Amino acid sequence: MYREYTSGQSVLLPEEQKTKLNTYSMHVKEALAKEKLGKEELIAMISAGGEERELLFRHAIEVKNKYVGKKVYFRGLIEFSNICSKDCYYCGIRKSNTKVKRFNLSDDQILEAANYAYENNYASIVIQGGEIDSEAFTRRIELLLREIKERSNEELGITLSLGEQSKETYQRWKEAGAHRYLLRIETSKPELYHKIHPLDSSHDLDARNRCLLALKELGYQTGTGVMIGLPFQTVEDLADDLLYMQEIDVDMVGMGPYIEHADTPLYHYKNELLPIRERFDLTLNMIASLRILMKDINIAAATALQAIDPVGREKAVRIGANVIMPNVTPGLYRNDYSLYENKPCTDEDPDQCKNCMDVRIQLADGEIGYGEWGDSKHFLKRKQLLENS
Ligand code: SAM
Ligand code: SF4
Repeated sequence: MYREYTSGQSVLLPEEQKTKLNTYSMHVKEALAKEKLGKEELIAMISAGGEERELLFRHAIEVKNKYVGKKVYFRGLIEFSNICSKDCYYCGIRKSNTKVKRFNLSDDQILEAANYAYENNYASIVIQGGEIDSEAFTRRIELLLREIKERSNEELGITLSLGEQSKETYQRWKEAGAHRYLLRIETSKPELYHKIHPLDSSHDLDARNRCLLALKELGYQTGTGVMIGLPFQTVEDLADDLLYMQEIDVDMVGMGPYIEHADTPLYHYKNELLPIRERFDLTLNMIASLRILMKDINIAAATALQAIDPVGREKAVRIGANVIMPNVTPGLYRNDYSLYENKPCTDEDPDQCKNCMDVRIQLADGEIGYGEWGDSKHFLKRKQLLENS
């Protein structure tokens, strides 16, 4: 999946060229036998194909069953607004995309979606949307959190995914009832980060890192993730991304394939991307490798996988993921939360989504942990250690 560049960097390339151009000598078997996985081992695992890939998956399934079990936990996803102050070059709802019809669900619609998740025993929701930095926005989320907690008898677990905010804001939201936060680093490599974001103070990798640190300090179950198959991205970058996740000791990860969107600046590079099916395969390799590297964290099967393969998320569950985020946003608004092309299920309502999910998880040899929060075991251990120290 990669080739040697004259600079010594390997860019992602189609599968058929892999054997010819693979200059890494380590085999997956050798990598898996190592006590500590470093960059070289991870590169071998991420770029595995054929029998080596089967070996990687078998090992990841064993690790998953041993450390987190077969349960898959649901997080009802509420994509409540596509209004965003940022201009990430890859994202369909970026501020400068004038073709998007902007929406912002009413409080009642959000509460209704949360109630749907509660009544259907999902046990947790994720509230996700564009990034807004204002007191009115902070206050609105704070009040919604309190209301959702009250209406669900404190039973519904709440994850937020609302981008970079001040530590005070994160604290207010935590006190109001949120206990998990997802903030993808997108890529841990500064050069690549700068290529996929505008070069300005609101798109700053260091600031994002500071946010992740603040979330951990505040006691959130902290999640991050990256996009896989970005233009300019190398296998080395992806191995470094996994080592980054290990180094910052995250509790949860949600990573998925990059999918181009015609109304974004990165679309310019569409002909230089790895074919979509290979981005999909690479994502599964990344998930399996991460499961082996960070055995007891929660790993979400990204919705973007399903945009490529109708049972993409279930394939991810089989080889390492243990969280799925079924969309509970009212169907009417889903088309407008279009981050990338072919976003799945955008014309279905939550009931239709639920029925297809039940069947799909069984296909992936998983059991749905209905009614359970399914908190990250890694987080629970980390918390225990902190309390004992
Ligand atoms: N605004 C918040 C943030 O950026 O953290 C949350 C919403 S944002 C839409 C959620 C995630 O969508 C991002 O972290 C990014 O990784 C992903 N995303 C955006 N555009 C994408 C694309 N073209 N392909 C795949 N994932 C994409
Ligand atoms: Fe906004 Fe998030 Fe999209 Fe960036 S990825 S433009 S912050 S919604």
